[in-house]
Amino acid sequence: MYPITPVGGRWCLNIRLNERQKKIIEIVKERGPITGSNIAQELNLTRAALRPDLSILTRSGILEARPRVGYYYTGDKRQSLIAETIKNIRVKDVKSIPIVIDEKTSVYDAVVTMFTEDVGTLFVVGDEGVLEGVVSRKDFLKIALGGSDLHSIPVNVIMTRMPNVITTTNEETVYMAAKKIIDREIDSLPVVRTFIDSKGNEHLEVIGRITKTNLARLFVELGEGKN
Ligand code: ADP
Repeated sequence: MYPITPVGGRWCLNIRLNERQKKIIEIVKERGPITGSNIAQELNLTRAALRPDLSILTRSGILEARPRVGYYYTGDKRQSLIAETIKNIRVKDVKSIPIVIDEKTSVYDAVVTMFTEDVGTLFVVGDEGVLEGVVSRKDFLKIALGGSDLHSIPVNVIMTRMPNVITTTNEETVYMAAKKIIDREIDSLPVVRTFIDSKGNEHLEVIGRITKTNLARLFVELGEGKN
């Protein structure tokens, strides 16, 4: 019913409160549970004059009314409910299929793949599908501006390589994955799992991707009450 918006780094209910409603919240925070008549008394108003404001505050979930007890403040509880919902969603619930290319692919062919697959980032793999790096639009723009022959340069020359690739896993919360994307100012993360090669060495295999689009879609679904 009321959208949520970020305010000062926090998620807040986007509801414009009038001065009287703000005063009511302060009174209930301080003295709740408190009856409607007592709130009215504090504000030098009649109970009837207060009814529309109390109705808005309870319908929006900021206050709750218990019969024979009175009003008490629930605004914080509602916010922690939003946080709890988001923190229970795992990467595996929202990830998409990864688009991977071999590290020896030419920059030219990689650009073509980016267009045909309609993605902004490609994951670069070596033998046995081991994650070696990521390459994104800016990497391609940079090399194109340099005037190099895009057919002769392999993509592993321009990629961001391991161990500098920021990754996520199926079981990580989508909240943590989103935080990595925001903190590192990147568009996507490869979803990886560890595997041991024939020589007993540990590697990462790409099993999915999380992009800003996945996060935006989740946000819309949460807004529609689907999660
Ligand atoms: P774009 O190039 O479309 O703006 P990004 O902002 O994701 O896309 O990429 C910016 C830079 O960060 C590029 O050099 C890219 O190689 C690198 N990059 C992209 N994704 C990752 C990642 N998951 N881990 C580390 N570096 C990344």
